[in-house]
Amino acid sequence: MSPLSDRILMGPGPCNPYPEAVAALGRPMLGHLDPEFIAVLDETNQRLRTVFGTTNRLTFPVSGTGSAGMEAAIINVLGPGDVVVIGVNGVFGNRMCDVAGRAGAEVVRVDFDWGTPVDAERLLAAHPNPTAIAMVQAETSTGALSPLADIGANKGDALFIVDCVTSLAGTPVELDANNVDIAYSGTQKCLGVAPGLAPLSVSDRAIERIKPKPQSWYLDLNMIANYVTGGGARAYHHTAPISMIFSIHAGLAVVLDEGLDNAITRHRRCGTMLQDGLEKRGFELFATEGFRLPQLTSVVIPEGRFGALGEGEVRRTMLDRYGIEVGGGLGDFAGKIWRIGCMGHTARERNVALLLAAIDELSA
Ligand SMILES: *Cc1c(COP(=O)(O)O)cnc(C)c1O
Repeated sequence: MSPLSDRILMGPGPCNPYPEAVAALGRPMLGHLDPEFIAVLDETNQRLRTVFGTTNRLTFPVSGTGSAGMEAAIINVLGPGDVVVIGVNGVFGNRMCDVAGRAGAEVVRVDFDWGTPVDAERLLAAHPNPTAIAMVQAETSTGALSPLADIGANKGDALFIVDCVTSLAGTPVELDANNVDIAYSGTQKCLGVAPGLAPLSVSDRAIERIKPKPQSWYLDLNMIANYVTGGGARAYHHTAPISMIFSIHAGLAVVLDEGLDNAITRHRRCGTMLQDGLEKRGFELFATEGFRLPQLTSVVIPEGRFGALGEGEVRRTMLDRYGIEVGGGLGDFAGKIWRIGCMGHTARERNVALLLAAIDELSA
C-alpha cells in the first residue's frame, strides 16, 4: 500500500496543491476585518484579475467550491422572465441548466455530443435576444475545450457567462479580450490550491444587471457590488474563510512567479506528453482532435487491455500500488473512459512518466 502522504492526484480534481499553498493554510489566524487580512484579500483579488485577464472591479473568491461560483454567476442575473441559452457538452453544462432552471429562468438548452466543443454558430442561433448565453470553457467530464472568442464577439446584448473552473491558469481565459461578462472558477483545478473557494469576476455591464433580490441570501452580490463600485462601506456579511484566502493568495503567487504564460505552457507540455504517450500505446483519445484540453485527458479504455482486470480494478491497483489516482468516466461513459488530470502542481513531466510506466506494468 503506498503511503497516503504522497498521492499523485491525476484525477479531474483536486490536483496536488502547490506546497506554498498548503503551508499558507497554517498561517496564524487573523480577524476577517484585520487590516492585514484586508490587505491579503485585496492582493488576492488583484492576482485573480491578472490570471482572469480582466480589469473587472468585482473580482474576488466566493466562499464555497466551484459550484458556488456557478450559482453566484447565474442567480444574480437570471430569474423569472429571463431567457438563458446554455451550451451543453457534458456534466457541467448540464449543471448550469439545473441551476438556471431552479432560479426560474427559461433555459434554452443547446446540446452537443460529449467530447466535442460547443459550436458558436449553433449556440448564437438558438435564440434572438436572450438575457444571457452560458457555457463551460473546459468540460472536465469529457476533456473538450470550447473556444470563447466567436461567441463573445457576436453575443449582442446578452451577458456572456463562462465556467472557467478547469480552464483558469491551465488554458488562456482572457475574459476582457473574449468579451466575457461573468466568469467563475475553482481552486482545486489548475490553480493548484485545495478545494474551497470559487474565484468570480463580474463586468461593470453585468453589475448593472444584478437583481435587487436574487434567489439566494448567501450568494447575493449586491452588498459587495455596492462596495466595489464606490457606493457603500466594507461591512460584515459573512466571515471570510481566512485560511483558504491565505492559501489561494499563496497559490496565485506561485502561478504568477512562474509566469501565467509559463504555467499554461507547462500544462500544455504535460498534456501533450501524456496524450502522445497514450496514442503511442494504442489508446484512442476521446475528445475531438484540435479541441483537447492539456489539463484533462479523456481516453477510451479498450476491453481486455488489462487482461482479467476491469478498468475500475486497474484504477484501484494504480492507487494502492503506485499512489496514482486517475478519474473514471461519468454518465454514459462510466466504465468506458478515464479522465486523467494534469493540473496545478500535478502538471509535471515526472508524474506523466510515472503514470505511463504504471499503465505499461499493468497492461496485459
Ligand atoms: C469541478 C468543476 C465544477 C464544480 O466545482 P466544485 O468545486 O466541484 O463545486 C464546475 N465546473 C467545472 C467545469 C468543473 O470542472
